[in-house]
Amino acid sequence: MNLLIKAGLVLTFDDQGTVLEGGEILIEDGAIGAVGSRVNLEGRPPARVIDARDALVMPGLVNAHTHSSENLRKGCGDRGSLAEWLPKVIVPLDALDPEANRIAALLGCGAMLRSGTTTVLDHFRRLPLQGANVDAVAEAYEKAGIRAVLAPTVRDRALYEPSAADRRAGRAPRQMEEPLGQPADAQLALCEEAIRKWHGRAGRLQIFLGPSGPQRCSDDLLQDVRELAEKYDVGVHTHLAETRWQGMAGKTLYGTTLTAHLDELGLLSSRLSVAHAIWLERDDIRRLGRARASAVHNPVSNLKLGSGIAKVAQMRRAGVNVALGSDGAASNDSQEMFEVVKLAAILSRLLTTRSSQWVSAGAALEMAVRGGAIATRNEARTGSLEPGKRADLVIVGLDDHPLRPLNDAVGQLVYCNPTRSVRTVLVDGRAVVEDGQVLSFDEEEVFAEAQAIARRLPPAR
Ligand SMILES: [Zn+2]
Repeated sequence: MNLLIKAGLVLTFDDQGTVLEGGEILIEDGAIGAVGSRVNLEGRPPARVIDARDALVMPGLVNAHTHSSENLRKGCGDRGSLAEWLPKVIVPLDALDPEANRIAALLGCGAMLRSGTTTVLDHFRRLPLQGANVDAVAEAYEKAGIRAVLAPTVRDRALYEPSAADRRAGRAPRQMEEPLGQPADAQLALCEEAIRKWHGRAGRLQIFLGPSGPQRCSDDLLQDVRELAEKYDVGVHTHLAETRWQGMAGKTLYGTTLTAHLDELGLLSSRLSVAHAIWLERDDIRRLGRARASAVHNPVSNLKLGSGIAKVAQMRRAGVNVALGSDGAASNDSQEMFEVVKLAAILSRLLTTRSSQWVSAGAALEMAVRGGAIATRNEARTGSLEPGKRADLVIVGLDDHPLRPLNDAVGQLVYCNPTRSVRTVLVDGRAVVEDGQVLSFDEEEVFAEAQAIARRLPPAR
């Protein structure tokens, strides 16, 4: 079915950064057929016209790092560093059954789609990993109609990370999780099964391999991850250097940084995206840039857990592709990317007084759109409104506070949080949100089920 959008303003995010006033977009079979001031409709009449002359149209945002099960833990675990927060807030989620994981994923889809996110990378944690849970989450993404990367976490070391109190008292790092009774081979076999079953499904779903963090994985496991990723040509996603301790852990474990260790194992490449990337040395950033790897900046989560501030401008200068992520809803606690975009711009200003080095509004939005498309290996499909790309786009009303009066569309998208103005969202040319309502599944039903599941979880205080 052909669809024509008549827009007030089109932000294409093409290489030239073309902005069209009063532009039109023709969508044919889910792909963008034409973009221009006036598109030629001869021989391809649209079955439907969306009148968005009082709105702007832009590519959908990409949430390049989250954990879906945490959608059930919003507002939990105030005032705790990662080492304090993880055992009480996150570990209980490992007991969730497939239906609860499905509901948690749908809950996140509703929050993201309604706030303009069309692609998500779910670094899905479930210990032990089970095929039924992965299937349930993949089914949720298929149903919601969002573009998704599902990266089940794998690890074969219990995590030791000292809290600040432990460090002050000189206590040895403590174990935050029970040793995992599931061999690495079994975890990777489940990932391979997921790749065969789901990778490429509907042209929207990908499976990545998701080592939890290099400090949680043996060299054997990391090498197996690299080989499996190359065999199936899938991406690899991991946490890296989120906390100060993780920044030092490489020296203790390997006599070098975790980034250099990943490099030595051959993991650094354009197929790799690393979440957080805060406590990096200059040489680490150079290595990531040389490899054309992606870093996913999660400024809201990094502030809530007191983890630190990633050197975004420095990474971009070194050639690292920087994308943005919300991180899980237990450390954010929303999944709204416009909030993340705003912080990505303004947080950079604490790192230097030289304003020319600050992340600009345009750069922050670019990271959430094109940076995210690259990090999720979707750059050929999404990230800009150009003929041939899939029609993943957001229609944002110009008729409410965030964009009234209209002075600078990019500046206002970044600094005025236009989430409330997101009107219509298309993924693959299909309307998944209209008039601010999710069309692909019953959100009220998901709210009711999520409430029942959350009630059964232990309190996170
Ligand atoms: Zn995370």
